[in-house]
Amino acid sequence: MPDDEHPMAITLSTGKPVYDYEIAIQPDNGERFYISVNAAPIRDEEGVIIAGIGTFMDVTNRRKAIQQKDEFISVASHELRTPITSLKASLQLLDRMKDNPTKAMPHLIEQSNKSLNKVSVLVADLLNATKLTEGQISLNKSRFFAKDLISECCHHIRFEGKYEIIASGDDLLTIEADKDKIDQVLDNLVNNAAKYAPASKQIFINYTGEGDIAKFSVTDHGPGIPAHKLPHLFDRYYRVDSGGHQYSGLGLGLYICSEIIKRHGGTIGVESNHGKGSTFWFTLPIGQP
Ligand code: ADP
Repeated sequence: MPDDEHPMAITLSTGKPVYDYEIAIQPDNGERFYISVNAAPIRDEEGVIIAGIGTFMDVTNRRKAIQQKDEFISVASHELRTPITSLKASLQLLDRMKDNPTKAMPHLIEQSNKSLNKVSVLVADLLNATKLTEGQISLNKSRFFAKDLISECCHHIRFEGKYEIIASGDDLLTIEADKDKIDQVLDNLVNNAAKYAPASKQIFINYTGEGDIAKFSVTDHGPGIPAHKLPHLFDRYYRVDSGGHQYSGLGLGLYICSEIIKRHGGTIGVESNHGKGSTFWFTLPIGQP
């Protein structure tokens, strides 16, 4: 940086303070980092500048957060554009054949519904993530049998019939929790198993009580997840690069699950053997019977 462009030089020559002047620094053998410089003149009683004061703050994390947000917006727009484009195409075809119905109509209507469904799932994830982050979600707790929750969950996966959900556990287990939200968590975990482990046709759900804690798990025998990626799975926007496969998603599903479980006072985690499958689990306090 030329000497006369340095924030301190600017403040001393103009007499005006400089705020938040960001500079990138590239060390010879290290990672680039960013600092923000503030500079202000110090004057004597007559107002003559006699010195300057400067502060330097590492703002690398701030930079990264902005970059992450930009990347996320680009992923989200792309994810939304795909089903919207296909919805538009189906509707255009339907429009053309509205006075002259053909056999393709039911298929096009089904296709439109699927696309619209994808859009609404994505929008729901976006809204949920924002509400959870801002602490705007309240829990509506009731006591229910874990068994009922499991047998009622994941309609569309059961309905599609491509995967078999095998549930086992303690049938007398009851918990006090927000049933809809826990249903949402299970739905997400089972959906992920179907999406990221498509060759594993069986998905196992287990529910047991240990003392005053209930534990639920969802297991697939799919490709698993490399160990070094596991600690980040529940982070907002985090997606595993699945070498060659293009899975749609926003990286919000597991983040939403973990926020819901944390809000209940439980914990969430994953065990995975690369190549053998994954078990996502969560615990919940059973609450006063
Ligand atoms: P998204 O909403 O994009 O699906 P998630 O937060 O639900 O994202 O999941 C984060 C990442 O975890 C995904 O990108 C995926 O690679 C990985 N993942 C989640 N569940 C499984 C699973 N059952 N098997 C393998 N990978 C999984």
